[in-house]
Amino acid sequence: METVVAGSPGEKEFHQAVREVARSVMPVIAANKAYAEARVLERLAVPDRVIAFRVTWVDDRGAIQINRGYRVQMSNAIGPYKGGLRFHPSVNLGVLKFLAFEQVFKNSLTTLPMGGAKGGSDFDPHGRSDGEVMRFCQAFMNELFRHIGPDVDVPAGDIGVGGREIGYLFGQYRRLTNRFHGVLTGKGLNLGGSRLRPEATGYGTVYFAQEMLATRGDALAGKTATVSGSGNVAQYTVEKLNEFGAKAVTLSDSGGTIVDREGIVPEKLAWVKELKNGRRGRIQEYADQFKGATYLAGRRPWSVPCDLAFPSATQNELDGEDAGALVKGGCLCVSEGANMPSTPEAIDVFREARILYGPGKAANAGGVAVSGLEMTQNAGCMRRGRDDVDRQLQSIMKSIHANCVRFGREDDGFVDYLKGANIAGFTKVADAIVEQGV
Ligand code: NDP
Repeated sequence: METVVAGSPGEKEFHQAVREVARSVMPVIAANKAYAEARVLERLAVPDRVIAFRVTWVDDRGAIQINRGYRVQMSNAIGPYKGGLRFHPSVNLGVLKFLAFEQVFKNSLTTLPMGGAKGGSDFDPHGRSDGEVMRFCQAFMNELFRHIGPDVDVPAGDIGVGGREIGYLFGQYRRLTNRFHGVLTGKGLNLGGSRLRPEATGYGTVYFAQEMLATRGDALAGKTATVSGSGNVAQYTVEKLNEFGAKAVTLSDSGGTIVDREGIVPEKLAWVKELKNGRRGRIQEYADQFKGATYLAGRRPWSVPCDLAFPSATQNELDGEDAGALVKGGCLCVSEGANMPSTPEAIDVFREARILYGPGKAANAGGVAVSGLEMTQNAGCMRRGRDDVDRQLQSIMKSIHANCVRFGREDDGFVDYLKGANIAGFTKVADAIVEQGV
């Protein structure tokens, strides 16, 4: 860790992510001379390549705007680089390195041949017109196109990058290269996208919770759930919870949290989708729209009593105090839709309380898994039906869960899913690195 911190000063999210994996896999490395000699973990903690560039574009007033763009290609030991693009003012190199590092282990867990990467920009799409977003995406791709390709690096969406942005990015890539192929995933159906890709992360997170509950003879039906965020992952988490007969009672955005004790039923969820994906408004409006709902300005959902929690907004959005409130409120299962939403202190609280805790790299891997399926569909010029993709998604989530149990079960029967996910994800990549030499 000393070398990692010295080599990436100030990148605290990256240090946090590496420390968390190192803690789980050190015993495995100590027991396996080949991993230690090949210095596998040290190698994985330095990106293969970091690309940083300026993005210059013109806003609706005709003024020139300048943003920073990045792509962190962390490891392609088991397949082409793969991971989302994030457009958010908080984006910096440290955040993208943490996300790219996590992505290596997540992608390995899916059992599909995908390496790990992440990219993005400090561009803030909030309040920007479609035209401005398009010009920004085009300017971003003017540099990124040199570094990606269907068997090189295949970006997808993340915070601030959904179907609209992927469409603009894909269009510019196609114009620049004169190639129509699967260089991005999360594309619309007309561009060769996969059915169920928008739903996959949220649905997968709920499937993972279902698997965790089943280990204790429990199920989702009748449970009350808190969900944070109100974007892609949060919306489809609520949708799947409703299908399973559970009740989601919160959603949030960077302004605050809405609480609806009667449940965010399908009609209300349809309204949220229009608010967030259509009008791009604030979640606060929900409390004006639906009687009985309240808005907690500047607050997160974790003080609301629940059986299940689905953090689905951003990193470090759930701290030790929040975790304490969740456990006190009766929460028995946390399934992370976001990447690294729980702080190390929060994870300690969950462990101590022996509740079911599914870390993001396992619980939210359904999104990248269906992206992997989208790549195979594009490569084979074919298309899978919705039920087929859903079956594959469920089967992948089951296999990720089984792997976490295999590597994470402790002597007293408790499953440490974080340890299980880290060891299972690491082992496959480590073996591939050893096999390929220096
Ligand atoms: P979206 O942009 O669709 O939604 C993000 C949501 O989180 C919005 O409600 C946003 O509110 C909120 N949010 C973002 N930053 C903050 C912040 N600093 N504080 C409070 N709220 C915040 O993104 P996604 O739903 O795609 O992504 C959500 C999480 O899921 C991220 O951690 C992402 O890495 C992870 N993830 C996403 C996958 C995918 O397939 N999309 C795959 C795997 C993980 P506001 O609009 O106010 O900013």
